[in-house]
Amino acid sequence: MNNMLRNIPSINEFFDDERINELVNIIGRKVTKDIVVSCTSQYRDNMIIENYRDMDISKEDIKEVIIDNIIIRSKLNERKRIHKVINGTGVVLHTNMGRAPLPKIALDEIVNIADGYCNLEYDLITGKRGSRYESIEDLLVKLTGAESAIVVNNNAAAVFLCLNTLAYNKEVVISRSEQVEIGGSFRVPEIIERSNAKMVEVGTTNKTYVRDYENAITQDTKVLLKVHKSNYKIEGFTCEVQGEELVELARENKIITMEDLGSGVLVDLEEFSLPYEPTVMDLVKKDIDIITFSGDKLLGGPQAGIIVGKKELIDKIKKNPLTRMVRIDKLSLIALQEVLNIYLTNDNITNNIPILNMLTKDKESLLSEANVLRKSLIDTFNDNLHVKIIDEEDTTGGGSLPGVIIKGVSLSITSKELSPQIMQKRLREYKTPIICKVKDNEIIISMRTINKKEYNDIIDGFYYVLGKE
Ligand SMILES: *Cc1c(COP(=O)(O)O)cnc(C)c1O
Repeated sequence: MNNMLRNIPSINEFFDDERINELVNIIGRKVTKDIVVSCTSQYRDNMIIENYRDMDISKEDIKEVIIDNIIIRSKLNERKRIHKVINGTGVVLHTNMGRAPLPKIALDEIVNIADGYCNLEYDLITGKRGSRYESIEDLLVKLTGAESAIVVNNNAAAVFLCLNTLAYNKEVVISRSEQVEIGGSFRVPEIIERSNAKMVEVGTTNKTYVRDYENAITQDTKVLLKVHKSNYKIEGFTCEVQGEELVELARENKIITMEDLGSGVLVDLEEFSLPYEPTVMDLVKKDIDIITFSGDKLLGGPQAGIIVGKKELIDKIKKNPLTRMVRIDKLSLIALQEVLNIYLTNDNITNNIPILNMLTKDKESLLSEANVLRKSLIDTFNDNLHVKIIDEEDTTGGGSLPGVIIKGVSLSITSKELSPQIMQKRLREYKTPIICKVKDNEIIISMRTINKKEYNDIIDGFYYVLGKE
């Protein structure tokens, strides 16, 4: 039996093989060696567990089996890195695919500025230490009409920080219908608890009245909190208190109104034939004291949590020691500055903010793009692929516009030889992975979320799928 184990090649012997040396060129000697060691010892363990089943396998054959495993393992590792992917799902703000793609101007500025030093916290006028938040605050105040603003790492941090600052050891009143959970880990009741505020729930799941809030107010009440129902809708026999009604009640009781808006819309979506969604400006006009929202949802910028509101309250938030722990990084701040600047200075916002561009594409342009891509696929693959243009619904995704379905156009693709499930898997394996749906035994690629620049990659992806690469 020991003879058998002796047939397993030594680690060094693998490095005689051309394929292993190719791997060294791509992932480096250290990582390659780790995989070789791990796959070799796994083979040895299996041999022992399976009672030397492969007794008569030659040393060369064992080496081949292990090399196959090494290559599979290194490919799996490679797939775990962050890659560019092509989003064919028609979900515009896909949380699993990085939410909002950034505007070109923002990316250019990141390259421009972060390539060297910048005045992140250096005041160019006085030559002294400056504030990381000053320029972004100025932009947000101009855009939203709020008195003051601060930006942190993400909206979850923004909500936490506000409650931790404004309601520490005090009570926060919230309707039972607004106990939102977003994407698994952000749950409003847990955030309130961790911020060290006490949650006081009022109303019922479907109906909450002003008098419910009113009855809940005590000496210890600090904040009346509203949370936007970002990913669900309550329909039927319902009653929800609007922010402005709470403002009145809060003024009478000298307490704070706060609204977690979730997706920060800065434009009137109805102008683009999308359903009305309260804008940040609307809430500022209603005189809500503190408003929080994300940078990478409908705003279309980088991951960030934006807080706008009354100066006196924002000043307190700025002084909270936890603010340092959730501070926004330089790259996101540069991107956010450029995105807000587009809103402030540009007449053609939908042209410049990719997610607004995607959300507002009309049927005509989607159809003409679908025709171009369909023709390329058919010209390239002839009878090997069957490509139809179909009507298919798209969604905004990512905790925004719940229940809203946008009429879209997709390509529906089938092949005589391969099942759609196999094609879907191979498209995902392609070097620029193409992510798409399977429906009614067809591959569905939505035209809304793909870009003309990606057409060549899609063609090459199908070369790979059909084994022609
Ligand atoms: C998305 C969302 C959050 C979390 O925002 P992140 O930027 O993902 O941290 C919080 N509250 C609401 C209502 C949301 O929609």
